[in-house]
Amino acid sequence: MKPLVAIVGRPNVGKSTLFNRLARRRIALVEDIPGVTRDRHYWDVECEGRFITIIDTGGFVPGEKDSLLQQVREQAQLAVEECDAIVFVTDARAGLTTADQEVAAYLRQSGKPVVVAANKLDSESQLVQAHASEFFRLGLGEVFPISAEHGLGVGTMMEAVVGKL
Ligand code: GDP
Ligand code: MG
Repeated sequence: MKPLVAIVGRPNVGKSTLFNRLARRRIALVEDIPGVTRDRHYWDVECEGRFITIIDTGGFVPGEKDSLLQQVREQAQLAVEECDAIVFVTDARAGLTTADQEVAAYLRQSGKPVVVAANKLDSESQLVQAHASEFFRLGLGEVFPISAEHGLGVGTMMEAVVGKL
């Protein structure tokens, strides 16, 4: 079994964008179970010299009876139960939100290896201006500035992920 790495975070932070970027080097589709786990996507990728399975934990369904926060929490729980490491994606332009803090608290007490990605930092100047340092307050260690859209910082972050496996 390859190590499982889940991409978690509240909606719209760029989880699927990151997943697609990593999956561009995909080897095979492992499993895709729409409905059951609400469009979680599993792909095998080679990342920094390691073969891993990445999981996009998408799955926020607007208008469902569960609140956004409940659904995000549920996805984080599934990830913790199932995975060997977690990429916790945040939106560095939007800054820290309650949902981020909720998920972080859950991830901290899970004891699973977590890497925090401060996403949407598309340029050097944004890197300086953004809220990246806020995310240190989540208490999950180093924060990796990335641009999932442009691929910036993604390699360095994934090196850290693979280093925790
Ligand atoms: P998800 O809900 O967490 O899966 O987020 P998506 O991957 O669907 O992205 C949500 C929005 O953020 C989309 O409009 C993306 O184009 C945008 N986005 C994702 N990554 C980046 C990034 O690195 N930079 C910028 N500027 N936008 C991004
Ligand atoms: Mg998504």
